Amino acid sequence: MPRDSLTSLQAARAAVLERARPLGPQTVGLEAALERRLAEAVSSGEPVPGFDNSAMDGYAVRSADTSGSGGRAASLAVVGESRAGHAAAVALGPGEAIAISTGAMIPERADAVVRLEDTVREGGRSGGTVAELGAGERITIGVEARPGDNIRRAGEDIASGTEVVAAGTRIGPAEQGVLASVGAAEVSCHRRPRVAVLSSGDELIGPDEPMRPGAVRNSNAFTLSALSRESGAEVVSVRVVPDLPAATRDAIEPALSADLVVVCGGVSVGEHDHVKGALADLGVEQVFWRIALKPGKPTWFGRRDDTLVFGLPGNPVSAMVTFLLLVRPALVVLGGGRAGGRQTRASLATDLERSPDRTEAVRCRLEQLPKGWVAHPTGPQGSHILTSMLGADGLALLPPGDGIVHAGQPVEVELIGSG
Ligand code: AMP
Ligand code: MG
Repeated sequence: MPRDSLTSLQAARAAVLERARPLGPQTVGLEAALERRLAEAVSSGEPVPGFDNSAMDGYAVRSADTSGSGGRAASLAVVGESRAGHAAAVALGPGEAIAISTGAMIPERADAVVRLEDTVREGGRSGGTVAELGAGERITIGVEARPGDNIRRAGEDIASGTEVVAAGTRIGPAEQGVLASVGAAEVSCHRRPRVAVLSSGDELIGPDEPMRPGAVRNSNAFTLSALSRESGAEVVSVRVVPDLPAATRDAIEPALSADLVVVCGGVSVGEHDHVKGALADLGVEQVFWRIALKPGKPTWFGRRDDTLVFGLPGNPVSAMVTFLLLVRPALVVLGGGRAGGRQTRASLATDLERSPDRTEAVRCRLEQLPKGWVAHPTGPQGSHILTSMLGADGLALLPPGDGIVHAGQPVEVELIGSG
């Protein structure tokens, strides 16, 4: 391979994924499981709902008692009440009704619920609970109930023994709710990847520091930490490294105890770029250096033991683009998810010139039209124009080649948002 050859984006992704292994399972409380991925599927040990219950406020009845005689409404004696959490103390007998609340247990021998609105308290007022009625009062029912009316059956949502959440699923609000509903107080999850973020450069200052000539505000520390968290990781350290060989080494060494290290800036071939040298000194084995991607050519990837190390270009857009295309898939796999599945296809809204030898990642806003998704470039696409990431839904990936990709042509799009 010639010394200057670039690794294709596809080969670079494959090389990263080949080295990414799901992190070991941990038992965690349900609350802490949010945003993690399940290491083991969860099956329900109990039915949901747990018992036959009422879908309405009304009266539990024997449906046969509501047919009336000769077309007249049925008159039933109210003998008790079933409330949520408190079953009726009595079973239902012929000619009787039991007042019932939504979600309360269906009393023994009842086979239907009549809505409160379809009943009249004898004496002229409609409806009324047992508490208001008092024992021994009667109701008239104006509808004919059929067996099963307004009854939710035990296990209608989840039968006991059913798998409710599959291994590898990221636990979001719905998953957490379903797990709570089956009494899964603790679940087995993949460990969240621990990520160290280092920004290299003498020029870097924080957003709260006074501006000085030549200084550059460290935006990458924010974008890369936020992208890490969105990808399911825990950011364990964020540091700035000056452009000095020893300082670079000293900052990277402790970071290597993380599962994944992202160093941005200082990775190129300039006289003041010390990251590659420091990584070599620390025994991090290089897997690839320089990829056929625009922006993002000076990207480095290597590994020491189980720690994956990325050297990303310092330019703010390049750092985000290379993170999305290479680091995010690695974090998803470390956290127990599957790589891929974050792509779609869209047609270009405008003509775009291709790069002869590199895949170009064009920041785009996606619009859904009847003909499908359309990708609109967000504006100037320089690797230092960080505002081109604002409002961008995806990176349209233009394959390398000569000439123009015309408006209307389909392209692969890497989606930006989390999920
Ligand atoms: P480098 O990769 O170190 O050659 O940096 C390339 C460009 O990105 C330079 O203009 C740097 O000032 C800029 N840069 C490097 N690191 C950061 C950072 N953390 N935040 C914002 N800009 C950066
Ligand atoms: Mg630099």
